[in-house]
Amino acid sequence: MAAEGESSSLAVGPQPGVKYPISVLYCGNCTMPIEYCEYYPEYDKCKQWLEKNLPREFEKMVKLGEGDDGADGAGNDDDKKRQKRGGKGMMKAKKKDDSPKQVTVSRAPRGKKKSVTVVTGLSTFDIDLKVAAKFFGTKFACGSSVTGDDEIVIQGDVKDELFDIIPEKWPEIDEDFIEDLGDLKR
Ligand SMILES: [Zn+2]
Repeated sequence: MAAEGESSSLAVGPQPGVKYPISVLYCGNCTMPIEYCEYYPEYDKCKQWLEKNLPREFEKMVKLGEGDDGADGAGNDDDKKRQKRGGKGMMKAKKKDDSPKQVTVSRAPRGKKKSVTVVTGLSTFDIDLKVAAKFFGTKFACGSSVTGDDEIVIQGDVKDELFDIIPEKWPEIDEDFIEDLGDLKR
């Protein structure tokens, strides 16, 4: 006897103006209850799914995303930054405080004709800088010393050689992890 014309309380889907316990809706993309979608790394895909399959819920979420200070007018790129409602950190997409492992090498002038080579980032690979400086000194038969928190200066222009020598000495540092900063002005 499902009369279609009458608004039956059993109708599928949320109805405007009606408050009732809504059973948990699951997202077809990430399979989580939709309120957790925003913690899913592919939230964009979830949104696409929601927009298609649960347009009403989608609208609600989008509105939640816009804070009240979004004010009128265009709130386009703001939306994305506003999805934090605090609290549960369910699924963190990526750890941001994890500093990237990266070694850089660069050349800096020293005097009129000489250059030194600056190496940074070795300690991101847990390499003892003193040991490394000594190694470079021996390898290139020149001065080499720890000059900063994570910086070694080698007396001489050996930047290009480092791309071979560093991965050879420390296999965990792939050549791809070494960035050539070129010539520095000091
Ligand atoms: Zn989802």
